[in-house]
Amino acid sequence: MNKYNVTSDGFYGEFGGAYVPEILHGCVENLKNNYLKILNDDSFKREFEQLLRDYVGRPSPLYPAKRLSEKYGCKIYLKREDLNHTGAHKINNTIGQILIAKRMGKSRIIAETGAGQHGVAAATVCALMGMECVVYMGKTDVERQFVNVQKMEMLGATVHPVTSGNMTLKDATNEAIRDWCCNPADTFYIIGSVVGPHPYPDMVARLQSVISEEIKKQLLEKEGRDYPDYLIACVGGGSNAAGTIYHFLENERVKILLAEAAGKGVDSGMSAATLQLGKVGIIHGSRTLVMQSADGQIEEPYSISAGLDYPGIGPLHAYLAAIKRTEVVPVTDDQALEAAYELTRMEGIIPALESSHALGLLGLRKFKPEDVVVLTVSGRGDKDMETYISYANNLKK
Ligand SMILES: *Cc1c(COP(=O)(O)O)cnc(C)c1O
Repeated sequence: MNKYNVTSDGFYGEFGGAYVPEILHGCVENLKNNYLKILNDDSFKREFEQLLRDYVGRPSPLYPAKRLSEKYGCKIYLKREDLNHTGAHKINNTIGQILIAKRMGKSRIIAETGAGQHGVAAATVCALMGMECVVYMGKTDVERQFVNVQKMEMLGATVHPVTSGNMTLKDATNEAIRDWCCNPADTFYIIGSVVGPHPYPDMVARLQSVISEEIKKQLLEKEGRDYPDYLIACVGGGSNAAGTIYHFLENERVKILLAEAAGKGVDSGMSAATLQLGKVGIIHGSRTLVMQSADGQIEEPYSISAGLDYPGIGPLHAYLAAIKRTEVVPVTDDQALEAAYELTRMEGIIPALESSHALGLLGLRKFKPEDVVVLTVSGRGDKDMETYISYANNLKK
């Protein structure tokens, strides 16, 4: 037990908890009483590790990025979550949660998705396990990310376009929670980030912590010490960041820089910079920082990256920023796009737009030549080609 662990009722400082409607109370309570037992069970560990290795392709490489290191005057390693099956870190979590769902006797899976990456990862593990899968996705996102919709359908999932609100991630999440309320007995809700009611934030952080477990081992091999000077990751809800920092939180020598989406600028009225602009509120079952108006209505976030435009943030991250264990830096659309082209041209790696925000942070801080910097590339850029191409075309004009 340390000060970074969640309390037994789900709090990190003042953030977290489980604010759910009465009908879900039993469901959430049941999960809370069982998740640690399941995670610590030998048969779970064996099956989880086997699938991460043989199906996902873990461990993901820790790649020393030579040319990028020269440019920024330090030693940069990239943690290559983009090389995972389905193209991002999300699969680590969905594999873990479906194994938990099976052990809890559930037969039906629901999930929410924004850009479709979590939906695809959920549909993938449902195909793998032969389970029914229903994915809620805002109608706007269905239109923007149609290839991912087609993938989910090919995998056998039913995709429900959601037409309430702004028709994006927040609305899809509301609809998934509504479904869960109607079917609490047989349905397991696979949440895609370290958000939602306790125990989800802690459960997802533990499942993603394989990222930092591997970084420790890989750094020991490559650098002769098992910790870096800096860790860098992007935060939407905060799951790839939580996984990247999990096993380093207690090591105060490790400085943690997290990038959140500043959109067109923190003060432009078009951003998703929840840690800069959010106020304490409750969203999707958790007390955390929320982008909201003076009368408490949730404000629509904006980011060029569909995976980062969430109006809340995982309660762990709200806490870590409040106690200054992490520094959260806003990175704009343009800084992220520029960083995406830089990585592509210097290292031959096309990153996801979300990950490009983490890369954009490299230019905003000064590093020393001996600094070891580990940056998580959370996903690959296939889904973002249209955005990248139109950015390049606009520059030519
Ligand atoms: C979904 C997604 C994110 C944002 O989610 P987190 O929970 O903050 O990690 C970041 N990168 C990629 C590639 C994603 O697909």
